[in-house]
Amino acid sequence: MATGSGLRRLRAPPRLPPARGCSSGPAGLSPALLRPDGFVGGRWVRPAAAFPVLDPASGASLGSVADCGAPEARQAVRAAHEAFGRWKRVAAKERSSLLRKWYDLMIQNKEELAKIITAESGKPLKEAEGEVVYAALFLEWFSEEARRIYGDIIYPPARDRRALVLKQPLGVAAIITPWNFPSAMITRKVGAALAAGCTVVVKPAEDTPFSALALAELANQAGIPAGVYNVVPCSQKKAKEVGEALCTDPLVSKISFTGSTATGKVLLHHAANSVKRVSMELGGNAPFIVFDSANVEQAVAGAMASKFRNSGQTCVCSNRFLVQKGIHDSFVKKFAEAMKGQLHVGNGFEERTTQGPLINQRAVEKVEAQVSDAVSKGATLVLGGKRHTLGHNFFEPTLLSNVTRDMLCSQEETFGPLAPVIKFNTEEEAVAIANATDVGLAGYFYSQDPAQIWRVAEQLEVGMVGVNEGLISSVECPFGGVKQSGLGREGSKYGIDEYLEIKYVCLGGL
Ligand code: NAP
Repeated sequence: MATGSGLRRLRAPPRLPPARGCSSGPAGLSPALLRPDGFVGGRWVRPAAAFPVLDPASGASLGSVADCGAPEARQAVRAAHEAFGRWKRVAAKERSSLLRKWYDLMIQNKEELAKIITAESGKPLKEAEGEVVYAALFLEWFSEEARRIYGDIIYPPARDRRALVLKQPLGVAAIITPWNFPSAMITRKVGAALAAGCTVVVKPAEDTPFSALALAELANQAGIPAGVYNVVPCSQKKAKEVGEALCTDPLVSKISFTGSTATGKVLLHHAANSVKRVSMELGGNAPFIVFDSANVEQAVAGAMASKFRNSGQTCVCSNRFLVQKGIHDSFVKKFAEAMKGQLHVGNGFEERTTQGPLINQRAVEKVEAQVSDAVSKGATLVLGGKRHTLGHNFFEPTLLSNVTRDMLCSQEETFGPLAPVIKFNTEEEAVAIANATDVGLAGYFYSQDPAQIWRVAEQLEVGMVGVNEGLISSVECPFGGVKQSGLGREGSKYGIDEYLEIKYVCLGGL
């Protein structure tokens, strides 16, 4: 492996060091999985610069992490490219069993991995444990799919010919992920890539690099060969240069991104120059429709689950509640009661907490701005509406009624604990409001009318629909959006296709 400028190789010590600046691991974290350095070509690498990772609950530093730049990104691509030559020839069964070992190690280390997620993202520990299992299941699922990559034999009109369709790995995949699911957004991509025979370079979010590096440690322990899984953490200051280095490098064949639509568009520009394959999992503005025929208790339970997971910071979180006039008052009353009774704001490490802090001040300011815009335009504040007395990045779970379509909270993805309710009269009106947005990731609706269920499920312009269900993600099912919510699908039997090229071979003279 070539050494890039300013990059120093470190020999992996038998006992892993804690994050720089932390002698015993912050927030009670075991130092064993808390790696502070980048991971390139099977080695821990440390460029000269480092950046702090902050606890979103307090603003305290959790330690500092290697701030990789374009040279390290290019070096990681070269390492991944070298490894690709060997990895694509590894038997599918062997790739499968290595992914399975990685899955087993994630499950064995579930508690430690969850603590890292809670420390750096702020989500409640129970949710973090759920994320670790969900993340690990992608490795398990794709370990199984690795052995089911089939081609086709076609009989063309010419009788002396047979056509073969082969599926081959694309090559090196550049993987850029957000902070809201620091582990699962990586494994959902990497599991599929490695199963297909691709190698990867991962750039995690500045806020949550420790989870990506902990996965590198476990990949190493599982025996995933050097150069197959590389991680180049970097600060927000360097995200642009690292993103550009990864996404314009001729040795990279594929870009897989999860994050905001705005960043996705930048990366699509990069990809265009060398016509790379892309997968884009971008932002949403999910409608949650409650029709008069709905079971109101069921709808409230679904609303709680789909709105307040991760304090409202998931791409599939309900963003706009559209409630039919006959059921409106009863839904708003019961929703407010459920919020009051079930949501507990606090540090993610506290047992009782269901709502951790938002990721940073920008996130708090966005929710605050949406609430004040809505109230200034006539919305009614039913519950919450301001920063929580715990201070820092905490915000009160908030319910607004009398919301209209001209308000920011109807138009923009909130990514926070704000539930705005819009009243509607007819099914046509609800579908029109739901579809009046340029994104389309998830959509939910509650109805007990079978004909309405078919009609609305077919008409919603989204990639995923929850009917009488507020939690829909599962490794077995295709995840992805339409319109400006993205390109491609992750998870399910379709996810692996994102990392495979189809080759047609014509056998003549038969
Ligand atoms: P973001 O700002 O787009 O960041 C996502 C990732 O892109 C981070 O690693 C970020 O690095 C990096 N990045 C930012 N600017 C870049 C650039 N110019 N070049 C290369 N990389 C760059 O998104 P976010 O605010 O962290 O995440 C929330 C968004 O993600 C929401 O819109 C949400 O809906 C979406 N999301 C979508 C899905 C899905 O499956 N569809 C899942 C989860 C989240 P830094 O952290 O260093 O800035």
